[in-house]
Amino acid sequence: MKCMAYIGIGSNLDNPIDHVQRAIDEVKQLPLSRLVAASSLYGSKPMGPQDQPNYINAVAQIETQLAPITLLDSLQQLEQDHQRVREQRWGPRTLDLDIVVYADQHIDHPRLQVPHIGMHERNFVLYPLAEISPQLKLPDGTVLQQLLDNCPLADLTKLPL
Ligand code: ATP
Ligand code: CA
Ligand code: CA
Repeated sequence: MKCMAYIGIGSNLDNPIDHVQRAIDEVKQLPLSRLVAASSLYGSKPMGPQDQPNYINAVAQIETQLAPITLLDSLQQLEQDHQRVREQRWGPRTLDLDIVVYADQHIDHPRLQVPHIGMHERNFVLYPLAEISPQLKLPDGTVLQQLLDNCPLADLTKLPL
């Protein structure tokens, strides 16, 4: 079955723009998947520990036949390909790939919660998402616009193309 999924992408180490652009290209090449859209790149302030560089973020929309956990496995493999090291919660990373939304599914698995739990309060997820899918509705019926209304743009900046 073909499902629409949205992937949140973030990086703040070793030329983050390059990591994010490469990640979009790699997502494009995932098996049994097709890239439908990719947002602009955005600059954002770090979440959690503040003693780390600013982030570059984007969101990619794919149509995929990969099951959610298989998609997660593939994304985690890509993070490893980018030499991601996990040391500190919300610490600096070369690449972070989160499944933000997977079709109209609500998933509560030890390795995977979808829609992504933090998305409601993350401008760096919601604004890129709105750029590519302004009409998006979450599985519980919440419309994206409602989330945007409650999440200020604040320091988020869209990078010029
Ligand atoms: P956050 O999830 O708050 O954005 P993070 O991205 O820094 O934090 P990670 O260290 O990248 O967190 O991931 C920790 C674990 O989160 C992963 O090993 C994965 O199993 C789990 N996880 C749960 N839900 C998701 C999701 N929707 N997308 C990606 N990983 C998820
Ligand atoms: Ca994340
Ligand atoms: Ca993650």
